[in-house]
Amino acid sequence: MSYELRFPGETVFGEHTFAGLAARLPAAGGVLIVGGRHAESRARELQAQLTGRRTAVRCDVTPELPLADVDRLIEAGRAIDAAVVVAIGGGSAIDAGKVTAALLPLAGSCADYFYHRRQIPGKGAFFAAVPTTAGTGAEATPNAVLSDPATGLKQSIRHPGMMPDLALVDPVLTWGCPHAVTAASGFDALTQAVEAGISRRANPVSFQLALTACRLLAAQLPGALRDEPAARAHVAEASMICGLAFAQSGLGAVHGIAHPLGSLLHIPHGVACAILLPAVLRFNAAHLSDFAAAAGYRDAATLIKATIELRRKLELPENFKRWGLSAAHHDFIVANCRSGSMKSNPAELSDADVIAILEELS
Ligand SMILES: [Zn+2]
Repeated sequence: MSYELRFPGETVFGEHTFAGLAARLPAAGGVLIVGGRHAESRARELQAQLTGRRTAVRCDVTPELPLADVDRLIEAGRAIDAAVVVAIGGGSAIDAGKVTAALLPLAGSCADYFYHRRQIPGKGAFFAAVPTTAGTGAEATPNAVLSDPATGLKQSIRHPGMMPDLALVDPVLTWGCPHAVTAASGFDALTQAVEAGISRRANPVSFQLALTACRLLAAQLPGALRDEPAARAHVAEASMICGLAFAQSGLGAVHGIAHPLGSLLHIPHGVACAILLPAVLRFNAAHLSDFAAAAGYRDAATLIKATIELRRKLELPENFKRWGLSAAHHDFIVANCRSGSMKSNPAELSDADVIAILEELS
């Protein structure tokens, strides 16, 4: 057996750690702070602590992260000679900052790297990731998921140098996160924990991390939805831990299918994961027993049943009916689901299997 482990340069977890963020950044160069709309006040708070430095705040990252957003951010970063990029927000905001930091010193447009016309040669600017939702784990991974609205394609730009230099997870930043986002991103984290745990590329370290994340999420998500601060802290912690796990192991077929499906029908990522997870796990049942037992479930079927019950408790949908998923969408989803995630899935899923899952959930 052999494996390699890659983690963020520094990982900081704890309530009120955001207050110490400015002091942890490199002292030289401009600082570009990016985020979604809701991150604006936190971004300004950080900017106020960076007196005497060139800074820019861009809190206009849109969900699904279109390529053009990144090109705009790169331009804003170059205008202030940014050597540091800080992303504050959900998965799209963190991915936006991550890929901006990587591409800042490079020629070409974001599309060049998205379509593999150019390759990232190495490390870009210093990058700090500060999540405000608990679920994506993007603060612990070396890839960014982007989409091209012109083609409907959603896929990752990935490079080992894109691993955040600093991941700072302050659960206080998730307080006030809307319930629908808490439920969807929490279920994304649960999906990532289970997929990491049973991945073909899992190793003993990632397995234990995935297990810890899974246990915490199953126990704490309902409390997080009731806005209990301790539960929210555990869910933020579990989300970070599942990121540390799947950065090593990759994910599985839920994520393979969720990306093309979500971008085609504009379904929030965590919601797509919640709908797909039990159906995909049935295909993986033969590979699920060890993880299920270690997580405290009697067998694979019991774990699958628990995911369905939790989904109901979080008031997440059970199928894609309201988005009108139909046979007309199958070709696109089948053609675009064979990503790295699909290759890590423990069971081999044929095109017919993928279509059977989609039909079951239509
Ligand atoms: Zn995910």
